[in-house]
Amino acid sequence: MDEVVRIAREAAHWWQGLTPAERRRRLLGFKHHLVAELDQLVEVIRAEAGKPVHDATVEALLSITHLDWAARHAAAVMRRRPVRSGLLGANQAASVGREPYGVVAVIGPWNYPLFTPGGSIWYALAAGNAVVFKPSEFTPGVGELLARLWWRAVPEHPVLQTVTGDGAVGSALIDAGVDKVAFTGSTRTASAVMARAAETLTPVVLECGGKDAMLVAEDADLAAAARSAVYGSFSNAGQTCVGVKRVYVVDTVAEGFLAALDDELVGVVAGPEPDASYGPMVMPGADEQVTTHLRDAVEHGGTVRHGGAGAVRAPYVDPIVVVDVDEDSAAVQQETFGPLLVVNRVRDLDDAVARANAVPLGLAASVFTADRATARRVAAALRCGTVMVNSALAFMAVPTLPFGGRGDSGFGRIHGVEGITEFSVAKSVSRQRFGLPVDVMTVRPTPSTTRLLRQFVRLRHGRH
Ligand code: NAD
Repeated sequence: MDEVVRIAREAAHWWQGLTPAERRRRLLGFKHHLVAELDQLVEVIRAEAGKPVHDATVEALLSITHLDWAARHAAAVMRRRPVRSGLLGANQAASVGREPYGVVAVIGPWNYPLFTPGGSIWYALAAGNAVVFKPSEFTPGVGELLARLWWRAVPEHPVLQTVTGDGAVGSALIDAGVDKVAFTGSTRTASAVMARAAETLTPVVLECGGKDAMLVAEDADLAAAARSAVYGSFSNAGQTCVGVKRVYVVDTVAEGFLAALDDELVGVVAGPEPDASYGPMVMPGADEQVTTHLRDAVEHGGTVRHGGAGAVRAPYVDPIVVVDVDEDSAAVQQETFGPLLVVNRVRDLDDAVARANAVPLGLAASVFTADRATARRVAAALRCGTVMVNSALAFMAVPTLPFGGRGDSGFGRIHGVEGITEFSVAKSVSRQRFGLPVDVMTVRPTPSTTRLLRQFVRLRHGRH
């Protein structure tokens, strides 16, 4: 690992020395190689993560969109810009630029093996860093393919390398002297990663799990909300960090929503067939968590509306919907990484917001309402990184929107301007244009200078 990071550091030096236009050209060249090998890319995602071809294609499309955006916008975000120097510093010309960290370690999960780490890798590369990517041990092939295609597109230096293996490899990578760690995975592992990185004061960005809520208002389009709930909850077998895990529907329209949900769920089944709605649980034993949370939900007052214990046919799990579950149950409070949706009735939207905010995870949320003012009010009140109005998961297609969580869902942001900022550091420069008539920064102040300074403080800052 030391050797990998040493090679990365040399590559970073070369990469940083290129002009922004030269980097952009190479990043877009890499994009063209990804597109040229789209079939292979989709096939590797499908084979490793068990996704239907359509889902793997959507993942590739989203990821390539972000790569394109990062390549085209990095230069503008990194560019040195003048800033005002203020009255006290009037003799200084001040400017702020951004510099890459150097070598960024990207440690990824398996559930979106391209889109999720890509959100760090593309933005880190665009900001001028070299990247060492450690994909999940369940999806190493995607990582190997990325490194191969990068090598084809940019043969000069290995600016993107992939190392494969389990958590021990990730841990060794953190220890090998990287300059920043971008981690995506579970909250528990994030905590171990942060502790490890703390030993060398290595900064981290942590993208962890979620328990995203969908809020359905009285004036919502119930059919649209149900459609989004089904896609958000069950696509990718519910193994989606920003999947819909809880629905809070206002009581007066709850029956209508549940009926629409029933309609939407007709024919939605898991399976190995190419035309199945979604594929298997990827991690061995992941179905046990679904079973445990289902049992817990029923023990906490829940009524099974769809699916039930029979839906669990490992490694496949058909959609499960449980209604009216106590808020303090594990099924409501903890991330269920599978196709289990809790639907709870609420008094009104304020009640929904309070419940949505009452879990430690805070990744994203959605609200369905016909009223824009209501949407704005609810969006402001939700404690999470992203709010979608009248859609679920759709924000991932917008590369300008930063992505990240609050609380147990982590911190830091990937995507958009903030994504480039995350992988770069500010460098401030002040240039003295002329000397001040009164020298303040001196070890030989005269009594009159000090008096003058006091007068200045009172004049400038003394008024309420
Ligand atoms: P995980 O935490 O088990 O593993 C994530 C990665 O960390 C893997 O590459 C793993 O090998 C590595 N790892 C494990 N132990 C490590 C250690 N001690 N040091 C360094 N690296 C270590 O997560 P997972 O099961 O692969 O992914 C599922 C989780 O990821 C879910 O909780 C999901 O919500 C979350 N996720 C979050 C986002 C997001 O953007 N917020 C996106 C996708 C997935």
